[in-house]
Amino acid sequence: MKNVVLLGCTGSIGQSTLKVAADLRGQMRLVGLAARSSVEALERQTHEWKPKAVAIYDDKYHGTLKGRLPSGVKCHTGLDGLVELATMPEADIVLVAIVGTAGLQPALAAIRAGKTLAIASKEILVMAGEIVMREARKHGVKVLPVDSEHSAIFQCLEGRHPEDVRRLLLTASGGPFRKKTKAELADVTAADALRHPTWNMGSKITIDSATLFNKGLEMIEARWLFGLGMDRVGVVVHPQSIVHSMVEFVDGSVLAQLSAPDMRYPIQYVITHPRRQSNTIPFTDFTKLPPLTFETPDADKFPALRLAREAGTTGGTMPAVMNAANEVAVPAFMNGKIRFPRIWETVEKVMSRHQTVHARTLEPIIEADRWAREEAARLC
Ligand code: MG
Repeated sequence: MKNVVLLGCTGSIGQSTLKVAADLRGQMRLVGLAARSSVEALERQTHEWKPKAVAIYDDKYHGTLKGRLPSGVKCHTGLDGLVELATMPEADIVLVAIVGTAGLQPALAAIRAGKTLAIASKEILVMAGEIVMREARKHGVKVLPVDSEHSAIFQCLEGRHPEDVRRLLLTASGGPFRKKTKAELADVTAADALRHPTWNMGSKITIDSATLFNKGLEMIEARWLFGLGMDRVGVVVHPQSIVHSMVEFVDGSVLAQLSAPDMRYPIQYVITHPRRQSNTIPFTDFTKLPPLTFETPDADKFPALRLAREAGTTGGTMPAVMNAANEVAVPAFMNGKIRFPRIWETVEKVMSRHQTVHARTLEPIIEADRWAREEAARLC
């Protein structure tokens, strides 16, 4: 029985995790649930899953939620509340699926408390990958990827020798604008971008998959998670999203992990790894799939990959700056304040103005994040 704390239980990953929990009853118990502000959903989930403690991040909902919970369920709030959950003595695995920077400190707290950390929030490894992985080594805890691409690579690397790996190949759907020309990209709208071809995700990540910043963030995550230089993390466009990523070995042989696109696979593997467990997900019928195709990403049309490679190579506070500028530019685009190409133009400008700090602590990273948000907001 694995006791799991789920930070971010009402979002897209959170909901998929609850489906996995339903499949794995008897093997997985949710001991802590946290949401940002969705009181009703968290209340419902608490009655269904009976965790020992819950947290609502936004403290203005704390009183409301507290009054509606069954007796005996602890109710925390704020960043302290997330840290409280992440360090619960009962917890074996802490799954962090909170959008934004709020997951960073709970993730580090979980590592320091000796918990296995399962990461779905990109910000954790993008902003603080070096610190997180160093702390994980120091405390002897595992960091497991929830993202489908990183889960694929993790599975392909199991039992392999690091020196045998030539490079990682992240697959990218290419987003909804893969076939648009550079000129056409200037006029696309948020509504166009939200029609994602294969994955059904939250809106921020959907825009990120349209700019390819999502893949850029994943490149940086992969670099830290698997301990390779940026030059050994490649991207290949694969619109069908069946091959979730690949590892190329020095002998030229390539291992890939395949399945229908469904987040329940990588989430479940975090819980059952290194074993497998049957579930209610339909099996993939390869004879019914469309032809699988692969192409080189168009670097001219989608500068996000170049910017991410730069940020990841520079390291220090630069990836946090790239991430923060993008997080400001995306809602500006969704609200119609800026055009689509201005997302990466803003990110590039903010990056070019940043003086990178190489830090061993979180503070300069948080400060760089704050600075980049202000710079980006001025530009948008
Ligand atoms: Mg992904």
